[in-house]
Amino acid sequence: MIYEHGTLITIDAQRRIITDGALAVQDGRIVAVGKTQELRKRFPAEPRTDLRGRVVTPGLVNTHIHLAQAMIRGCADDMELLNWLGKRVWVLQGNYTEEDGRVSAELCILEMLKSGTTAFVESMLAGRYGFDGIAEVVIRSGIRAALSKIVMDVATYAAKDNWMHPGMIEDRETTLRDTLAMYDKWNGAGDGRLAVWFGPRTPGGVTPELYREISALARERNMGVTVHLAEVQADRTYLQEQFGQTPAEFAQNVGLVGPNVLLVHAVWMDANDIAILARTDTNVSHNPASNAKLASGIAPIPEMLAAGVNVGLGTDGGPSNNTYDLVREMRLASYLHKVRTLDPLVMPAETVLEMATINGAKAMGLEEEIGSLEVGKQADFVVFDLDKPHVTPSVNPVSTLAYAATGTDVNTVVIAGQVVVQDGQVLTMDEERILRQARERAEAVWGRAGIEFEPRWPTS
Ligand SMILES: [Zn+2]
Repeated sequence: MIYEHGTLITIDAQRRIITDGALAVQDGRIVAVGKTQELRKRFPAEPRTDLRGRVVTPGLVNTHIHLAQAMIRGCADDMELLNWLGKRVWVLQGNYTEEDGRVSAELCILEMLKSGTTAFVESMLAGRYGFDGIAEVVIRSGIRAALSKIVMDVATYAAKDNWMHPGMIEDRETTLRDTLAMYDKWNGAGDGRLAVWFGPRTPGGVTPELYREISALARERNMGVTVHLAEVQADRTYLQEQFGQTPAEFAQNVGLVGPNVLLVHAVWMDANDIAILARTDTNVSHNPASNAKLASGIAPIPEMLAAGVNVGLGTDGGPSNNTYDLVREMRLASYLHKVRTLDPLVMPAETVLEMATINGAKAMGLEEEIGSLEVGKQADFVVFDLDKPHVTPSVNPVSTLAYAATGTDVNTVVIAGQVVVQDGQVLTMDEERILRQARERAEAVWGRAGIEFEPRWPTS
């Protein structure tokens, strides 16, 4: 199949943008990238798709989400973090059944596909969400994913005063054993689209010994590990008081550094922390909307990039963002750092698009496979429709996408050569059924959790 007459933002080594460009796809991979004229000569008999007036980017990579939180979108708005977690998010998730876990994953993946995300990292799947059901949703949907299973032992601060909902507490033996069992069963499934990672809880829910064991098991199997670190200032204080270490010092001490490690948030990091991340090739997931909405702080991302740390973008979850639209996340990732540094030159559009594509691919250990439009890579790409007022005119397609577009401008999504979204419709999922079930199941979860939601304004 030849996709022709589009503007290709390749994100290749030279960062070429090809006007009137074309892509040739064969057996799920890109076999040629260039001007439409050239490809027409090379492949005269191939079927063609016309992308006139459209912009093509590599598939977007969302490096941090919670599938189970899509169905509790908007259920903890304008709340302080401890209440956000202890009174809402954990209580709701602690009442999930496996069927709820599956429907929430469907809702989340449906939203991501429609807004151009072709690969994602789920950071913490609890046992009660049903790993098998969620893995089956990933495979059927056509998306690419790393599914990380929760591992935990102590719930020190979480167990104190019944702070963590009992439905969210799991034990060391079960979580370790199940993660390895799911790895054996699902890693590499869907022609390599699915990976299984460790998703240990934050320090406070996991002992240093267990982190070390996870690190060793992950290295043996070449598995990824992702963990929330230094999200709020209290996380940094906790590590200082308990261990006398900064967040990156602690991470290094327990083996949570290296190219297979993806640290999430990394807001409260100093220059010494950043140097450790750079030296150890540790990846970071930046979630600007979540950090802003929960008033967690602003991560020193320009400083990390300058030090050579690989930073990808993430949306986090339904109660903290509240969307999974990575296109919108690019805009905030740029604007937030400009206003913090009072420097409009930091985090240009090109940088945030790199974070959403090639950096994300690297954070997933997939930079040889996805993240750019290059010969030999998987055919994972997104076609944006720019024939709309809010993206007209477009003098630089990169800044149009980063600053003016949203996920609703996605027209077509192709993953491993398979057309998954066409004319804005997801071909692999039943949208009407998923939206209906998500509404019904969300209400049932609120009921079991004993939480009633009402707008704050008088509503009749
Ligand atoms: Zn998170």
